[in-house]
Amino acid sequence: MGFEDTIRKIFFRKPKNALEGGADGNKPAVPEKVSVRCDKCRAILISSELDNNMKVCPKCGYHFKIGARERLIALCDDGEFTEMFADVVAESGDDFPGYAQKLDKARAESGEIEGVIAGVGKINGIYTAMFAIDYRFIMGSMGYAVGERITRIFEYATLHRYPVVGFALSGGARMQEGITSLMQMAKTSAAVGRHNDAGLLYISVLTNPTTGGVSASFAFLGDIIVAEPDALIGFAGPRVIEQTTRQKLPAGFQRAEFLQQKGYVDLIVKRGDMKSKLGEIIALHTGGND
Ligand SMILES: [Zn+2]
Repeated sequence: MGFEDTIRKIFFRKPKNALEGGADGNKPAVPEKVSVRCDKCRAILISSELDNNMKVCPKCGYHFKIGARERLIALCDDGEFTEMFADVVAESGDDFPGYAQKLDKARAESGEIEGVIAGVGKINGIYTAMFAIDYRFIMGSMGYAVGERITRIFEYATLHRYPVVGFALSGGARMQEGITSLMQMAKTSAAVGRHNDAGLLYISVLTNPTTGGVSASFAFLGDIIVAEPDALIGFAGPRVIEQTTRQKLPAGFQRAEFLQQKGYVDLIVKRGDMKSKLGEIIALHTGGND
């Protein structure tokens, strides 16, 4: 019996009441989210095994979304990541209806106070400034705090002559903050520019999805643009473009592999190879910085 069949038997062929409730009829017999179905190949996977595989489907290689902090810890030697600028948070007094509630929900779902995590760690022994955007935080939208934390980590890296690795993920600008969110595009881009003027390396990793104001600012300003397999990358999404142009888009449009063919992406790196590949590039470009 194959792995999938075993799982199916365990979790889906039990008597109906076994799935609905335990002996006392209240507690579920099967803990919630013990298994998950792959979005791509539809295989049924055990959640803990998926977590141990950095949330990559062992059957088809589909990259599930992963939390920002988890990503950075996986990148650092011995998982030693030091967070910075954690006191920079969105202004909660904003007038936009429902924004405060949206922030509360994002904080509860992500366990983070803001949408980007920034800090420093060593990658293969080399000090590197890094940041990652969390998908659970209003779909990685860029508001004041996200832009400010990214700007500050670039400024810190420029001062200390550290390379930067940034994991982009975003649905776009945080509309609830109005013009302030759009200003983050120019502010982050200027900070990347100063880091670049100092002759320092910035590797931008585009993850699924990277769109809107983030793709139109710091995400595409890397010296080297890396993408995770099959990541959706663009400004407006494919549905909007199809509706506007009334044309059918080519297969694979806005996917990492398509963009690599067109020269927008330098490298596609699987999540499991990310640390070794980024470590290799950083060592090549910096020659160490102890
Ligand atoms: Zn799969």
